[in-house]
This record gives sequence, structure tokens and C-alpha cells, in this order.
Amino acid sequence: MYKSPLGDLRKSVDEIASYQDQALAKMTKLIAQNHPHYKAKYSQLGLDIASITTLAKLESIPVTEKMEFVNSPENFRMQSAIDAPDEYVIWDIVYTAGTSSSPTPIYQTSYDFRGILLAQVRMAEIRGMSNKSRIMNLYPITAHPHGAWLRANNAAAALGCAITAGMSGRDFGSFELTRKTAEIVELTLQSNPTALWGVPSYIREVLSQILAKGGKLPALDMIAVSGEPCTQAMRASLTELAESVSDVPVVVSDSLGASELQCGLVECTLGAGFHNPAPELFLLEALDENGKRVSEGEIGSLAITHLDRRGTVLLRYLLGDKVQITYENCDNCGRGGGRIVAHKGREGRFTKIRGNMVNLDELLKILADDKAIVEYQIEIHKQSKTDPLSLDELTVRVVPGAGCDTAAIGKRVAAAIRITPVVQEVTRDQIWGNNTSLKATRIIDSRDYN
Ligand SMILES: [Zn+2]
Repeated sequence: MYKSPLGDLRKSVDEIASYQDQALAKMTKLIAQNHPHYKAKYSQLGLDIASITTLAKLESIPVTEKMEFVNSPENFRMQSAIDAPDEYVIWDIVYTAGTSSSPTPIYQTSYDFRGILLAQVRMAEIRGMSNKSRIMNLYPITAHPHGAWLRANNAAAALGCAITAGMSGRDFGSFELTRKTAEIVELTLQSNPTALWGVPSYIREVLSQILAKGGKLPALDMIAVSGEPCTQAMRASLTELAESVSDVPVVVSDSLGASELQCGLVECTLGAGFHNPAPELFLLEALDENGKRVSEGEIGSLAITHLDRRGTVLLRYLLGDKVQITYENCDNCGRGGGRIVAHKGREGRFTKIRGNMVNLDELLKILADDKAIVEYQIEIHKQSKTDPLSLDELTVRVVPGAGCDTAAIGKRVAAAIRITPVVQEVTRDQIWGNNTSLKATRIIDSRDYN
């Protein structure tokens, strides 16, 4: 089906590391010639990047912080090489779905696109999909192109299987092409998928509506999610809903995706860890605060290094996740290449509310873990819209499910962060609209900072 020097990744740790050494040596040579940002950075540091020819030597170069990339994304794009111009033709651009006002572009060239197809086929293979799968793509069409919707379609092409796209999202001007959720529900029923791909909360919405109208998806055996954390409560809810409409057992297959990779790390079976589907293309490292690799099994900051790319290229780039990595072959499937055996969350996002430092991730986790909450959003604002000097207020908006108790939610939040919130019940549309963005807006800070 496809060919790679690393085959199906059932190779020894040494074989894979030695392949990655060679790939890195080629990559750093190209970077020394063609990468505006790293050429300038390393010459300032007196570092010869082309001399970094092994994974061991890579440890001696500094990490790349997120802000470094976000502040000058164009400088991370390789300049075309005269000897192989075709490899540098821009194929597509995606944007990170961050919260900043100007999303960061990530360039894929013709060469990179082939790599992405390989990674997508591997992901499918690791998850247990095949060319007999029928995918329903429930990712939205976003204002800025995003990898989720695009790569689902590309994955089906590379795998040789069928796909139907839901096409939720926001229309522009007179181009009315998106579908409402009710139409997407009909389309999903009609396409009789084996796999639903999307953001967990939107898949849950579609499944709930199918169940409510007595519809069946008899062949559904996989729910492939990414885009937002799939908590245990969410996994349980998705499994229960899916198994109510399917005639066969359903697996919820989570993925740790990153726009900088244009693929996701996936599990071969629940609990086996998130496998790097393409160690030919990128290296995973878990680092301490000095940029040194932590010992295997210890928690470190996840960094990615592109090993074979021509568009946007990043070295030791910190994604902001805390992880444990192993490079040993998987006990379950035998694949190597590195996998994340534990994800310990994002590096915390903090803000001050009424003078108290609050860990917003901890607050969101309380809401995400509550089975009685379907959707949630927090807003930090001033008590009075007209008085900028009034006190900060925290409002928690929830779409209630069965047994939802807003008073209890308020108490739980107050106990955790020492601030009593206002808890409001809202509808799903108030948070999501027509599934217009990939991620729901979970945090709104509308305090006036001027
Ligand atoms: Zn495995």
C-alpha cells in the first residue's frame, strides 16, 4: 500500500534511531542553507547547525519557544532550494487554532503533503482502520483553514476509503454551502459510516440527535476524536450513545493532534500510549527546564523536531504539553518510533480574578469532568459593564444534561479556586453556534484592559 524505509514501524529502537539520525543530518544541512530564522539565530549563538547530525547532538541546541514562532512565522518557512524547486512549491497553508487574534500560518509544500499522507495512512493503520472504512467527517469548515477538516479528507484519499463531509461551519457572503446540524444528522444516517471523525462535543451532539429520532448507524465501530480533550466522562458518554445506535461494539479513538505536525498521535488500543505515526518525519522529546531530555518515564515538556520537511520547519519546538515518553516498542502492537504514555495536561494558563491567581485549566477540568454538564464556557468580566473599576466577576455557563445542579457546580468551583461564580444555564447554540469553529470558546476574558 505504501513504502517507507521504516516499513510498518515494527523495527528495533536502534534501527529507528539510526534512520532518524540520517534524516536529521539532511534536515540540518538544509536548514543551514535555507531557514531564515534558524540561520540568524544560530549564527548569533556561534552554532554551526549543519554539525548537528545525530539525535544525541540535537540535545545541545536551544529549544524553540512558541512566541518565537508566533512572532515571525514567515521566517520559519524554508526558502526554495535551486536543485529541487518542486519540493518547495506551496501545497497548502493551515493556521493554528489558537486564541490569539492573528492565527499563525503553517506552510506545507508539495513534498510535505506526501509526508502528511504517509502519516495519515499510518494513523489509520494504528487505529485499526482500513480501505473498507466509511468516514463521516464532522469537523467544521473554519474561517482559517485548519488541518482537522482537510486531513480527514486527505486521509480517506490516501487510505482509499469512502468519506462524507458534514460541512458545518460559517458561510461567507453569498456562498451558502454549509449545512445545519439537522441536515448533517440526515447525511450521517444516509452515509452509514463505520467511523465518525470530529471534535468530541460535536459528535456527541450529532449522536444525541440521531438517537432522539430513533435513527441507527448499524456499522459504526469507531469514533475518532481530536481538537479538545476527551475526558473519561466524555468517552463514557460517547461510547454509550454510539452503542445505542450501532449493532457492533464502538471504540472511542482519541488523538493528540498538533497543527505543527498535520497529523495526530494515536493509540493502537486504549491505554497503550499515543504513537508517533511517522518517526521518519518528526521526533518527539520530553525535556526538562534546561532543554535536556528527561529520563524515560519522567514527565517533561513535549518538544517536536521536524526531520524531513520543506515548508515550515521547527526544531525542538515546545508545544506546551507535559508528557511522559517511551521509545520502546509497544507491547500491544510492536511498533516503535516514540509514544506518549501519559499526558499530564497543558502548561497551566493563569489569570488574576479579584486579585487571586486562578489556574484556568483546573477550573475547566472541573466542568469537563462533570457528567451532568453537556457544554461549558467561562467568562471573566466586570460586575458592571459601565464601571471599569467594578469588581471582577466569574460567570460559568453550562448546557445542562440530566441531573445537572447549578448550585452544586457553583460550590465546587468556589471550593477549588476560592471565587464564587455566577452559574448560568444556556443552550448549546449560545456556546457553539453552527459548529463554526473547531474548538468551542471555553474562556472569554472581557475585562477592559485599556
Ligand atoms: Zn501499539
